[in-house]
Amino acid sequence: MTTLAKAAHAVGAIQELENGGAPLNAFLAVAHPESLAVANSEGLLAGIPLAVKDNLATTGFDTTCGSKVLEGYRSPYESTVVRRAKAAGAVVVGKTNLDEFAMGSSTENSAYGPTLNPHDRSRVPGGSSGGSAAAVAAGLVPMALGSDTGGSVRQPAAFCGIVGIKPTYGRVSRYGLVAYASSLDQVGTLGRTVTDAARLLQVVSGYDERDATSDERPVPDLLGAVGRGVEGLVIGVPNEYLPDGLDPALRDLVNTALRELEEAGAKIRRVSLPHTRYAIPCYYVLAPAEASSNLSRYDGVRYGVRCAEADLISMYQGTRSTGLGIEVKRRIMLGTYALSAGYYDEYYGTAQRARRMITEDFRSVFDDGVDALFTPTSPTPAFKIGERMDDPMEMYLSDVFTVTANLAGIPGISVPIGSIRGLPVGGQVLAPWWQEDQMLAIAGELETRIQGAEA
Ligand code: GLN
Repeated sequence: MTTLAKAAHAVGAIQELENGGAPLNAFLAVAHPESLAVANSEGLLAGIPLAVKDNLATTGFDTTCGSKVLEGYRSPYESTVVRRAKAAGAVVVGKTNLDEFAMGSSTENSAYGPTLNPHDRSRVPGGSSGGSAAAVAAGLVPMALGSDTGGSVRQPAAFCGIVGIKPTYGRVSRYGLVAYASSLDQVGTLGRTVTDAARLLQVVSGYDERDATSDERPVPDLLGAVGRGVEGLVIGVPNEYLPDGLDPALRDLVNTALRELEEAGAKIRRVSLPHTRYAIPCYYVLAPAEASSNLSRYDGVRYGVRCAEADLISMYQGTRSTGLGIEVKRRIMLGTYALSAGYYDEYYGTAQRARRMITEDFRSVFDDGVDALFTPTSPTPAFKIGERMDDPMEMYLSDVFTVTANLAGIPGISVPIGSIRGLPVGGQVLAPWWQEDQMLAIAGELETRIQGAEA
């Protein structure tokens, strides 16, 4: 096949599935076959069909963030990650579905309907990058871009049986990523294999003068790290991530993965991250606080949909009450409250202090000679569509093992470690800041050793 033929084939396959009798609703937009072009036929991603989460500004497509308020919105500029992927030869074949403004863990919060899990269509694909994960898992594209503020790349990767990476905060430019919670947001990559996810990360990583939080450190050889092995590495297993009530089948899969790593030459050490219990409350104060500020720009004046009203205030009110969904409004209210005079220190200040303690937990185990940590990615496999929609607390708990990496800014990857009752399960490797290569070496070892373990 010519480099372009692969992308044209992917577009055909997406259209056939999504317009057929059993759509996944993984895509919000699909490229016109005539618009496809390969910018670089020698690049690391030459001719690779790429799916892009719809909160990344991509020229030639709308960028809706899964929200009504941005229906029909076209960004005048391109995100750095998409620009870099295209420059390496990737062909953007479509924009993927997500929880509105990336707020959610199931993709059910999209204003354009939920995405279904290709392994079991009665279940969610995870979220918020559920469209990207489902597209990769269904074989429509080999890799996809997502964003991870509290687990939104890793958790859907786990639910869909694929690989998802959240890099170190600052490794990848956020320019053109629509902001949710800026101190936690990071673009991530999803792939069918560790190598695919690493290849895309290699291309999009590195300093960008357009993002003040992007870091100047050189990007290590990520692709080369995948086959490097784990000989001599110390892998920590935090007790707090294997709590008493954990599904025994999940515990078995984690133990099997650890035995494999041990056999490959790694040393396994039990460790403690004592402030883990503050992670969910801390995250669900800080993320909404930042969101309440970031989302104030959707007022009908500059972007997307405007609700026509007689005066300015009614126009703001009308636009925001009809344009934003219920979960987004819940977060704006929570965040506004947490930042309000009189409560600021009690909520926002306390959460900031908890964030510092969670970060110090990681720093001290890494300083103590632990090279990386291994945990389950999520406490359960994919749940049923609708199951958690009436209980936000239950939904928030899906993120209990993933939010800590965002709070601390460390990199994490989810890699398949088997399945429970036919549903895929992910294991998470967390590494010290800037050591994505270490993390990829471990994930690569697991991938070669674990093929279809069933608990
Ligand atoms: N599920 C988490 C939330 O709702 C994480 C989302 C994300 O990483 N974008 O905030």
